[in-house]
Amino acid sequence: MTSVDTSALLSWFDRAGRPLPWRGPGVGAWEILLCEVMSQQTPVARVEPVWRAWLERWPGPAELAAAPAADVIRMWGKLGYPRRALRLQECALVVVDRHDGEVPTDVEALLALPGVGDYTARAVACFAHGQRVPVVDTNVRRVVARAVNGVAEAGPPSIRRDLAAAEALLPDDREEAVAFSVAMMELGALVCTARSPECDACPLAASCAWVAGGRPAWDGPRRKAQGYAGTDRQVRGLLLDVLRDGDGTATAARLDAVWPDPVQRGRALASLVDDGLVARAGEGYSLPG
Ligand code: SF4
Repeated sequence: MTSVDTSALLSWFDRAGRPLPWRGPGVGAWEILLCEVMSQQTPVARVEPVWRAWLERWPGPAELAAAPAADVIRMWGKLGYPRRALRLQECALVVVDRHDGEVPTDVEALLALPGVGDYTARAVACFAHGQRVPVVDTNVRRVVARAVNGVAEAGPPSIRRDLAAAEALLPDDREEAVAFSVAMMELGALVCTARSPECDACPLAASCAWVAGGRPAWDGPRRKAQGYAGTDRQVRGLLLDVLRDGDGTATAARLDAVWPDPVQRGRALASLVDDGLVARAGEGYSLPG
C-alpha cells in the first residue's frame, strides 16, 4: 500500500496551516469539542465568531448547561442544523453531571456524549487530549482515497474501513500522529479539495497514487448534490429566524408569511417543534423556555 510522506506533509503544515484560534496553545478540551461540533457541516470562517461568542458568554459546560434553551438557539445564529445547539447543551449537562465538568479523554466515553459521533469523539481525543487515534473527516477520506488508493473520490463512507485505513497511516509517535491528523485535514481543506485539487502545490504529489496513475476519472457512485433553496431546511431556517430575531415569540400569521406553501411550511414547523427548537405558545409559537 502506498503510504503518506509524513515528513513532507508536516513541513507543509508548518508553512501553510491556518492559525485557527482553537489550534493555539492553552485551548481546553471543552473549547475544542465546541468547535468540532460547530464545524460539522459549517465552514470555519462562519464558525469562528460564533465559537468566540459562545465561549465569552458560557466559558465552560457548567455555564452552558444552565443557560435558557432560547438563548442557546439564538446564539447559534446562522450556523445551520440548529439541533446541534441543543445537543451541545445536553452534552454540557452530561459533562457536568457525569464527568465533574471535565470532557472525558476516552473515545468510548466521548462517544456516549449527546451529539458526539465517530468523528468528533476521535477529534477531541486526538486534538484536545493528544491521543494517537485516527481522525477521519470528509477531507481525510478524500486525501487517503487519492494519495493512497489512487482514486479520485472516497466513495460511500464506512466507519470501520475508513478508520482502519487512517490508522494504518498514523505515525507511531503520539505527538507526530496528532500533527499528522491535523495536517491531513488541512491538506484536504486547502489543497486536495473536492473539485480542484492543486497537485502542483501539494507536498504529497511525488508519492500520490492518483497522480502516479494519471489522475483517472472517478467511475464509482456519484455523491448527490445537496441543494438548499426550496428545501425544508431553508423553510425551517426562515421560521426560526423570525423567532430568533424578535422577542422569541411569533403569531402563526407572522410565521405563515415566511413561506408560501402551507404544506411545506407546516411540515417544517412541525419538525422544529419535534426537535425542541420551537414550542407552541397559545395561538402562536415561541423559542423553548
Ligand atoms: Fe491530492 Fe493532488 Fe496532493 Fe494527490 S497530489 S494528495 S490528488 S492534491
